[in-house]
Amino acid sequence: MNIYLEREARLIIVFASIEAHARETLGLLLGYRTAKEAIVKLAIPYQTSKRKFSEVEPPRKESQLVKTLPDLPTAHMDILGGFHSHPSWGEKWYEPVPTESDKEWIIKNKGIEVIVALKKAKKYVEPGVRQSGEVSGSVGPYYYKIAGYYEDDGEVKKATLTTAFDY
Ligand SMILES: [Zn+2]
Repeated sequence: MNIYLEREARLIIVFASIEAHARETLGLLLGYRTAKEAIVKLAIPYQTSKRKFSEVEPPRKESQLVKTLPDLPTAHMDILGGFHSHPSWGEKWYEPVPTESDKEWIIKNKGIEVIVALKKAKKYVEPGVRQSGEVSGSVGPYYYKIAGYYEDDGEVKKATLTTAFDY
């Protein structure tokens, strides 16, 4: 599967991850999906998620929040899944790879999940789409790497993530 991150969605995902660093952030992804492709148009970070260093929980009222979406102007889009960050600090580096609990979550939701690994880094890396199917690069004093996953027949598989850098 291909996951295409529109630049506005990428901006919000990276910005929310930087804001919460070195804690995790999470949120919803909205857009369009077919069997082979998901287009992420919008990302909505949860402001009231419970942030810890190694995990983050959605707000208690998540299901209530999701029910309000069709009443908002985004009604024509579908909820595709979610995103969350894997912050790193010091010498540690946590890849944007789903943990066991991430996998359970993705399988339960039957959706897509975008994971952002983020750390402070001195070396500048030109942002771009990588052959590994990930998107990575520098933003200010941070380095990020984004990967996408999806549920397929009860298993979590890695998607090919692309985005536009036409600005
Ligand atoms: Zn995770």
